Amino acid sequence: MRKPKLRELAEALKVVFVRGPYTSSFPKVPYEAPKTYRGKPAYDEKECVGCGACARICPARAIEIIDDPATKTRKLILRYDICIFCGQCHANCTTSDGISQTNEYELATLDRSETTETVEKELVLCEYCGAVIGAREHLRWIAGRLGAQAYSNPTLMLAGIEAAVAPCPSPRDSNVPGLRSDLVRVLCPTCRRNVFLKEEWK
Ligand code: SF4
Ligand code: SF4
Repeated sequence: MRKPKLRELAEALKVVFVRGPYTSSFPKVPYEAPKTYRGKPAYDEKECVGCGACARICPARAIEIIDDPATKTRKLILRYDICIFCGQCHANCTTSDGISQTNEYELATLDRSETTETVEKELVLCEYCGAVIGAREHLRWIAGRLGAQAYSNPTLMLAGIEAAVAPCPSPRDSNVPGLRSDLVRVLCPTCRRNVFLKEEWK
């Protein structure tokens, strides 16, 4: 019984006078978390293409997608007050680096409206019906990945060439596109299908 007690005492004295405490002096001395720490998620404006995959994968539904066709903008709003810091948004990001977790951990606040992280992207709308097709940067990214194959899809091709995307010069009474020239327009899948059907069966 005696020997172990002496050993413990020796260990305690070593910690106090030689090794120092195991704990840090935070908050007196700022503590820097390791680089691999899964802290506050943050968007990288340049790397994010606005596809919304992170919002769909988020298990805590901490990311909201708000599309506004009137201003042609898509907002991705991440609320880190309900984030569970799982890292799924980063692991499943389309471009790999659009969102990542920083080693920031001091997130306490009295105002929860401050706990947001937002990224904003331009939307591409169907020239006929105005439906949301996607974020322009996302369409460009897909076109870049497809290379020459993107020319098989006029929407991807035109979204990639910004100057070529122009509003329909001659809107018709009907919402349904009807001419062969309408094939080379930025159209949603439904309107493109209608063009093809009209082209094939008049
Ligand atoms: S690029 Fe990544 S971060 Fe941006 S919306 Fe898509 S999945 Fe989210
Ligand atoms: S870390 Fe997890 S919970 Fe937080 S935003 Fe990303 S996917 Fe959602």
